[in-house]
Amino acid sequence: MTNQTLTPEILVIGAGPGGSAAAWALANSGHDVLLVDAAEFPREKTCGDGLTPMAVRTLDRMGLLDEVLAAGAGRIDTFRITGPFGISVSTPFENYQKEFPYALVLPRIQFDDIVTRNAVGAGVEHLFKVRVEQIAREGDQITQVEAKGPQGTIMILPKHTIIAVGAKSGLLKKAGFIHHDVRYIRASRAYFTNNQAKEPLYDFYFDFELIPGYGWVFSDGNGLMNIGVGILPIPLISTKKSTSQLLEQFVQRRQKEGVLGDVELAGPIKGYPLRIDFPAMRVAGANWMIVGEAAGLVNPVTGEGIDLALESGLIAARILHDNIEQGSRNHRGYQREVWDQFGPLFTGLRVLRDVLIMPLFTDYALWLMKQHRFLTRTVMSISQGFAPPQNVFHPRFIVNFFTPITPRLVIEEIRKKRQNNDTP
Ligand SMILES: Cc1cc2nc3c(=O)[nH]c(=O)nc-3n(C[C@H](O)[C@H](O)[C@H](O)COP(=O)(O)OP(=O)(O)OC[C@H]3O[C@@H](n4cnc5c(N)ncnc54)[C@H](O)[C@@H]3O)c2cc1C
Repeated sequence: MTNQTLTPEILVIGAGPGGSAAAWALANSGHDVLLVDAAEFPREKTCGDGLTPMAVRTLDRMGLLDEVLAAGAGRIDTFRITGPFGISVSTPFENYQKEFPYALVLPRIQFDDIVTRNAVGAGVEHLFKVRVEQIAREGDQITQVEAKGPQGTIMILPKHTIIAVGAKSGLLKKAGFIHHDVRYIRASRAYFTNNQAKEPLYDFYFDFELIPGYGWVFSDGNGLMNIGVGILPIPLISTKKSTSQLLEQFVQRRQKEGVLGDVELAGPIKGYPLRIDFPAMRVAGANWMIVGEAAGLVNPVTGEGIDLALESGLIAARILHDNIEQGSRNHRGYQREVWDQFGPLFTGLRVLRDVLIMPLFTDYALWLMKQHRFLTRTVMSISQGFAPPQNVFHPRFIVNFFTPITPRLVIEEIRKKRQNNDTP
């Protein structure tokens, strides 16, 4: 077994969307970047495969949108949320996002490969099947990183390090970056096929049986469906059932309702945790930054984190580049910027999540969303990171919130009654 020593200017640990976006941007700015990942690419990542409008926007900025579309990503223009009592709201994404008014669905094995190849194509050196096992620090500074690959141990002595290792927190705990008790969303997903299913779907269900949690059905409209469930970590309330069992029951309920038809399991049910604990820890220090899910950056309502991983990776790269140009080795500016940009969003999302786990309230909120376009637009803009949470204090939002019966509803009911009377 050989011992190798490497001295890159910048080391990026983890080649998921967060690490690869950061590595790509830094290589584009002329830096010497080494990207390491424990896996060999292309690799699967257990995920719902949904790319939010925010992710679509960032992919466009990175020049990757055409490639993602060419890879066969399914475009979805409308999302639907269904509550525990069956109230359902469908809303076109364009009601709150004009520039990129759609979501995409593409299996992660393809998506991550595109983002990672893009970084390698920009000149990033890469080592795959190399697992980082130890991060040594002196004071706040990372001095040495020890990794193991097929050829043996590799010592890496980077000037700067970006950590993008995703949900698993063991390495971060061992190196003293995490001191809090990390709580995870437990989630499972599986691929299903139904060749009759031609309608693209971006559906969330806040089922009784999943409270406090949710299920999703994402479909590209070509017969492939990604279906999954996530259970929020709420003591005393959360079910102890396994997520794979909950997923099977979730699919059966949707079949009974006629939403899914005759779906067939097209692969194993896979479980993986989700970290939603931003901003519980420091994400930048003397010569290091933490991006993506390793920083807890996952939407605590929907479990979406690809968009935040890409965004935080690009922010980290910009700030690191500026700091290097100015001869600064302290990257606390990144900490400030992600807190400013995502802190209020997470506060708002947690309030929304706490509302959504109260069954009656969920359906009341969905009922209101059916009646009031402004309210729907506001809730969706906030929950997808396109508007600040304080928008709920807009006078029109407050009036909407306390107006469950509207003229539109009354007119619709009259029309329905007339139609019923007219049918023989
Ligand atoms: C069931 C499920 C469904 C989800 N659905 C969605 C969805 O529909 N839409 C959405 O936007 N998000 C979804 N998410 C969240 C999303 O998958 C993550 O938030 C996103 O992948 C985070 O990107 P990342 O780059 O931070 O980390 P990751 O994509 O997890 O990448 C981390 C990389 O680091 C590598 N790594 C880890 N440890 C080491 C080590 N010690 N040494 C070297 N390499 C290492 C891993 O191999 C991996 O390649 C879902 C998650 C789950 C579990």
